[in-house]
Amino acid sequence: MILVLKPGVTDAEIRGIEEAVRSAGGSPVLVEGKERSVVAVVGTAKIDPSQLELLPGVSQVLRVGKPYKLASREVKPEDSIVRVGDLSIGGSQIVVVAGPCTVENRKMLLETAHRLAEMGVTFLRGGAFKPRTSPYAFQGLGEEGLRILAEAREATGLKVVTEVMAPDKVELVARYADVLQIGARNMQNFDLLKECAQIRKPVLLKRGLSATVDEWLQSAEYILQAGKNRDVILCERGIRTFETATRNTVDLNALPVLRERTHLPVLVDPSHGTGVRRYVPPLALAAVAAGAAGVMVEVHPDPERAVSDGPQSLTFEMLERLLRDLEAIAPVVGKRLDLSTKRPPPRAARGRAHGEAVAFQGEPGAFSEKAVRQFFGDSVRTSPSPSFRDVFEKVLSGECPYGLVPIENTLGGSIHQNYDLLVEYDVHIVGETRLRVVHSLIANRGTRLEDIRRIYAHPQAAAQCEKFLRARPAWSILQVYDTAGSVRMIKEEKAFDAAAIASAEAARRFDMEVLKEGIESDPRNYTRFLVIAAEPARKGDKVSLVYGTANRPGALFRTLEVFARHAMNLTKLESRPIPGKPWEYLFYVDATEDLSNRQMAAALKALREHTTFLKVLGIYPGAS
Ligand code: PEP
Ligand code: MN
Repeated sequence: MILVLKPGVTDAEIRGIEEAVRSAGGSPVLVEGKERSVVAVVGTAKIDPSQLELLPGVSQVLRVGKPYKLASREVKPEDSIVRVGDLSIGGSQIVVVAGPCTVENRKMLLETAHRLAEMGVTFLRGGAFKPRTSPYAFQGLGEEGLRILAEAREATGLKVVTEVMAPDKVELVARYADVLQIGARNMQNFDLLKECAQIRKPVLLKRGLSATVDEWLQSAEYILQAGKNRDVILCERGIRTFETATRNTVDLNALPVLRERTHLPVLVDPSHGTGVRRYVPPLALAAVAAGAAGVMVEVHPDPERAVSDGPQSLTFEMLERLLRDLEAIAPVVGKRLDLSTKRPPPRAARGRAHGEAVAFQGEPGAFSEKAVRQFFGDSVRTSPSPSFRDVFEKVLSGECPYGLVPIENTLGGSIHQNYDLLVEYDVHIVGETRLRVVHSLIANRGTRLEDIRRIYAHPQAAAQCEKFLRARPAWSILQVYDTAGSVRMIKEEKAFDAAAIASAEAARRFDMEVLKEGIESDPRNYTRFLVIAAEPARKGDKVSLVYGTANRPGALFRTLEVFARHAMNLTKLESRPIPGKPWEYLFYVDATEDLSNRQMAAALKALREHTTFLKVLGIYPGAS
């Protein structure tokens, strides 16, 4: 049974509700959510719902049909995001957990950790206590292994995920690990689950070799039941089927099933799932496409010589390639791969004290805000701003440490105003991200498609939905400069002959109806956003420049030749009239190449010789 609380319920009312549940023989667990908060009644007591319905602060009493409550979507409609220090699992970033099957020795583990950190991986795995089928196989280094893992964390900043096998070792493992793993063979070790319910560390619960989804969720419920530990991450690692071509069968069906039944994030481990190194990357990609919060993979410096699970361990090269592919696939499902190498630089202390929030243009619910979360993670605070210029101002004045602005869209083209502002303001590009943009036609509830006469749309949004709008010539298109704001506008106007073009999230936020989803002219509709800061990043594989050339034959060619000579790959070249100087142009260039600082300085020096004006807009890690 769950008691849905009224919005604005007071602490005293909550205490009263908890007391009433206790005196009726149940255990109350408060679950606070963004959309609604509830008190779940757990335990075996049979309570009369009508008693509880009358309590102050209770809006509704619902029966939960499932044998698990705290793990169910019914209790918490929104996705849970599990925080691990400054990282999170679930939400808009995809995580990669990588490392050897077992901590073999200090040297191999530290080597692995350093390689992973260089690639941008954020979580290190490795068993110190190993569940082995044969009693004669290597059983792990035990506490010595835990110490090595902790040393690797110190050295690299990677978060450590490691297995705990016995209830009396939970406290020990929790002292060293950032995330405690419960292995497939222990999914129903109930004493272990209960012990993990008492700690305040996230638990990664692997699916049992032949466990059903509901059995798995009941095991998760054991960890959640005490109400102390709310941080459970599920991990699909393949189940036993009749198939013998692979070690196990990765049950990707489970992903949409779990998405429906639980709010908990789910990782997929295709290493144990397939048992074969070359099958791991395709399954990892499929997992992310199917909605996984990330993947766990085994990797080894020399898989042929691995103490355990060598045949399924990736080489570093294979992992590097997989990361690139994951980075490319993540925006398709509205996420971003969380790589430490793509993080913005630490905030520079400049001028007066910095605020914390990241500035973007638009109202809450705007695509830009989504891009901010995708880039910085879900715990970031945001600062909505009326115009792009305000975003630049907030960054320059130190009011916000970062700003994020759109720079180009795959269907609508460049956002020229931001190019101009990048020249005008002394700010630096420190990162970039790509967001898939899916537009919806949004109206007040009850509005029918045939009632629509007016459309409120941002010119960029209208350009991206050009085909859809062209097919409806009777509609008049009114320009607004804020997609989420246009939804609010027709809501406030109570207009029933108007619709707005914005994200489905904006519709949800303003409680409006989506009349049609996916109205952009092509599904491959991405917007690239730049992250700007007052101080440069100075590190990364991408450089953005703007320059002017003399007005004589070959002038532009000479500048391009410099890029060729330095083996820099031009990814974008765009010319733009200089404001106030008719028929004179600036050239914007993006180029990628891992140049050392010295090589980059040499390339820029050569470029200066052939330009009348040159500004480096930023050197930063590109979104691959
Ligand atoms: C592991 O991840 O180290 C492991 C032993 O996996 P599983 O419990 O899924 O077999
Ligand atoms: Mn293994």
